[in-house]
Amino acid sequence: MPQSKRLPKNSVYRALNALGDRWSLLIVQEAFLGISQFKDFHAKSGMARSTLANRLRALVKNKILEQRPQRDGMARQEYFLTERGRDLFGSVLLAWGWGVKWGMTNRNMPTALIHTSCGKPMIPQMSCTKCNESVSLHNCTYESGPGAGSERVPLQRMHRVRYSQEQEWSADVVDFTGDRWTASVIATQYFGIHRFDDIQSYLGIATNILTDRLRSLEASGILERRLYELVPPRYEYWLTKKGIDTYPHSLSLMFWGDRWLAGPQGAPVHVFHKPCGHKLGATVVCGECKQPLTIETVTAGRFRTLKSPD
Ligand SMILES: [Zn+2]
Ligand SMILES: [Zn+2]
Repeated sequence: MPQSKRLPKNSVYRALNALGDRWSLLIVQEAFLGISQFKDFHAKSGMARSTLANRLRALVKNKILEQRPQRDGMARQEYFLTERGRDLFGSVLLAWGWGVKWGMTNRNMPTALIHTSCGKPMIPQMSCTKCNESVSLHNCTYESGPGAGSERVPLQRMHRVRYSQEQEWSADVVDFTGDRWTASVIATQYFGIHRFDDIQSYLGIATNILTDRLRSLEASGILERRLYELVPPRYEYWLTKKGIDTYPHSLSLMFWGDRWLAGPQGAPVHVFHKPCGHKLGATVVCGECKQPLTIETVTAGRFRTLKSPD
């Protein structure tokens, strides 16, 4: 099986490759919640020590976390978000908001977030920096950017996603984002690719893997099947409302990838905002007062410790 594959340049793939799998995303979430020590990551996430050590190493290598010696003078290291890592804040907020709206948060996440500037509990939203209108799948269009083209991307190890009934129920956004193929299948829907063969040839994905991911996305209520031919029965895959609602989060990952990983050529894709016609600059704002959210102005229980020490 090839270790890499030629795919259209895409900052979401780059972001996901740098971020890694669901375990890495859980670590990033925990880091935003103020966790910095190995033993605490271990206790909160429940992942095996070897897996945790391995993901922490990769996050440090990809400059999302940095290691610093513990202040008590012990030989142990603590892990903190770098500037690049802290820049994922908007993305983490959108993931949390999506989970709350659709009843899919993991047990470690806060049940409410408060914007201290307006004092209200709120759901974060993505809005356009030019016109302040909200950003959704239906009010954005794409054009190829200066960094368009194709590139070889490393392939994540292929594995089947097996959800037990209980896991299915508790699956959250890290399960969709943290699996490269699942995230890629969702992304084909943003580009209007709905038929099995078209999705398969666009992604260059093996039939059995695609079937598997489509099934789990359907079971999780992200995609729905629509019959478009009776004999033999053929289906198209379309995002449900819940699926469409993943768009701002994916977009925030894409912009993060553009900012940190696009290289000298620049962004592969430019997004335009239909309500104002401008190239989209997006920011994550408070759903109540519409002001931009910063690490310093969002709190909730464990988010109190969110401010990183310098
Ligand atoms: Zn706009
Ligand atoms: Zn507010």
